[in-house]
Amino acid sequence: MEITSDFLVLGSGIAGLSFAIKAADLGTVSIVTKKEKSESNTNLAQGGIAAVHDKRDRFDYHINDTLVCGAGLCKEDVVKFVVIEGPERINELVQWGVDFTKAKNGNSSIYDLGREGGHSMRRVLHAKDLTGSEIERALHEKASLKRNIKIFENHIGIDLILESNLRPEIKKDRDKCLGAYIFDTQRNAIHTFRAKFIILSTGGAGKVYLITTNPDIATGDGISMAYRAGAYIANMEFIQFHPTCLYHPDAKSFLISEAVR
Ligand SMILES: Cc1cc2nc3c(=O)[nH]c(=O)nc-3n(C[C@H](O)[C@H](O)[C@H](O)COP(=O)(O)OP(=O)(O)OC[C@H]3O[C@@H](n4cnc5c(N)ncnc54)[C@H](O)[C@@H]3O)c2cc1C
Repeated sequence: MEITSDFLVLGSGIAGLSFAIKAADLGTVSIVTKKEKSESNTNLAQGGIAAVHDKRDRFDYHINDTLVCGAGLCKEDVVKFVVIEGPERINELVQWGVDFTKAKNGNSSIYDLGREGGHSMRRVLHAKDLTGSEIERALHEKASLKRNIKIFENHIGIDLILESNLRPEIKKDRDKCLGAYIFDTQRNAIHTFRAKFIILSTGGAGKVYLITTNPDIATGDGISMAYRAGAYIANMEFIQFHPTCLYHPDAKSFLISEAVR
């Protein structure tokens, strides 16, 4: 089967869904996702998202806290960009229906802001202790209202289709990505998805380690596909391990949250 759309998005976590919601105003979007649409790291995130929201907080403070924690490894322009964009992106999530926990009366922010390691101010917005699943719920609801978005569950991205795969005479520096081969696990068939723009939002690779808080889908597929297609891969040494995780030999591991730590 061949499926054509303007945008092909691999992955239905916060990255893929938020891209798809915006892209749907510009064209048709196919989202393929490995298992059920909510199985993602996003769905498991608990603590919340840090952004300047308290009237007493400032971008300078958040930038400085981040650079201190980065211990000389951060790119300052990237830190500035992410910190300054933060409040606006949070407002966007709120407009899309994410219900962050509100503060009790008398606080200097409308939200109940947590304070986590490395932060000099309270700035972590959360939805109880289930922030990620609330974000995933709201984004799926928003995406379902967009007629231009079609989600294909149980569809695994196998490899990108490069023009040079079809026409070997194409030089590497002129090569183009035309789509992806996608394995439909329920029909046991490989489909060709073609698109003008292909977005890899397949999350991280935590599951390559034996013990992790990450879900089974986190096997670095997008990173491998990009690498095979000739992309430059950077910063692979940065893998986040939660310091506390429930381990049982016969059950899946899961995060014991910072609240308990
Ligand atoms: C237990 C836990 C707690 C966390 N807590 C926090 C927190 O408090 N605050 C915070 O900021 N971050 C937290 N994180 C990190 C955060 O969840 C991730 O950084 C973020 O969700 C990544 O989003 P994403 O969209 O890039 O990837 P994901 O949410 O992992 O989405 C990846 C998507 O790609 C799909 N996919 C993967 N491979 C393929 C393939 N080959 N073909 C098709 N689809 C594929 C998956 O099915 C999934 O839909 C936590 C993570 C975990 C695991």
